[in-house]
Amino acid sequence: MDASWYVLLALLLGFAVGAASVHLLGIAAQRGRQVMAIASESVPDGIAAMVQVLESAGVVLDGSNQVILSSPGAEALDLVEGRTLRSHEIADAVRRVWRTGEAEVLDLLHRRGRIGTGNQVHLRVRVAPLGNRFMLVLASDRTEELRLAGVRRDFVANISHELKTPIGALQVLAEAIEAGAEEPERVRSFAQRMQLEADRLGRMTKELIDLSRIQADDPLEHAERFPIARVVDVAVDRNRVLAEAKRMRIIPRVLEEAEVLGSEELVTMAVQNLISNAVQYSPEATHVGIGVRVTDGVVEVAVSDKGVGIAAEEQERVFERFYRVDPARSRVTGGTGLGLSIVKHVAVSHGGEVTLWSRPGQGSTFTLRLPAAAAPARKEIHDAHPDRRG
Ligand code: ADP
Repeated sequence: MDASWYVLLALLLGFAVGAASVHLLGIAAQRGRQVMAIASESVPDGIAAMVQVLESAGVVLDGSNQVILSSPGAEALDLVEGRTLRSHEIADAVRRVWRTGEAEVLDLLHRRGRIGTGNQVHLRVRVAPLGNRFMLVLASDRTEELRLAGVRRDFVANISHELKTPIGALQVLAEAIEAGAEEPERVRSFAQRMQLEADRLGRMTKELIDLSRIQADDPLEHAERFPIARVVDVAVDRNRVLAEAKRMRIIPRVLEEAEVLGSEELVTMAVQNLISNAVQYSPEATHVGIGVRVTDGVVEVAVSDKGVGIAAEEQERVFERFYRVDPARSRVTGGTGLGLSIVKHVAVSHGGEVTLWSRPGQGSTFTLRLPAAAAPARKEIHDAHPDRRG
């Protein structure tokens, strides 16, 4: 039962002891209220005020099921047309409640807007008599709540699927080792593949823990100030081995000194993920550039590569958990599909965002944008790794 339901009960009581009736249309106009009174019918004073403050959408009907009052929320949900309720399901419930005198709760799909299929919203609707002359309809939009529940369900399904693949591979490889025990060459090759799968499982477990930690904690609650230049240095450092293995150079250009407020560890993890992706999804001996600048109080860390790029239709999806453009390639690189969702969560939890520019075959630029903690000062260009080729 939500707060509005209690308000309603309190009002019903008030109504029962005979609250004064007023001429609603005049009063609403007089006091500049936003409640929309459709007819100049007498309704108890407190009810207009209540409908105004309700979080849910509220509609009051008279004994002939004509709408005499509707709240701005009800207008937004498009519940009323002229003096009638648009939804047959709600109108039927109103008729039932008149008959039985018992309040009802119903869940239904409601179409907002009149063109095409419009936009469907999931409503929880409560219908209750207001004394014996009026009927109150309260509706709350549960679309977002249900969507989130769906995302959580998908997440659990995804995790089980993602974990099954490497675990299954480990099982098959262990059996193969057992069967091929006499052939050391094959055993060695199976053992190497086992190691790869075990590494992947380890990485996935770590990233899942990171992700749930970021989602559970608010980094701004125990925020610390830290320089973005240090974040870039550490993140570049953590990718050095990976880059050297592909004869790649990582070139940071920190043009401005700026500080960010939040968790240094998480922001470093985000930049590190962007750099490791840039290295992973680029051909050998290419460059990865990192630019830092501050514009209008926003620190931007842009990581650019000359790699495979991402098609326009995939660009939104790469930030979803477990989404990979090319799952086969990702299996080879040991990708978990979690890196960018971590970046996105870090950005959002610091009051920022991550944007993407990319063209297939040309490369990508991921930009982490975070609110700056201090006024920036200019700093000379420096190249942390002047020549790392070969
Ligand atoms: P993964 O562990 O697979 O790298 P991410 O969440 O980090 O997972 O990335 C999701 C997908 O986005 C990757 O599988 C890849 O297809 C694509 N992607 C990420 N970064 C880049 C990049 N710099 N260049 C091209 N594709 C990228």
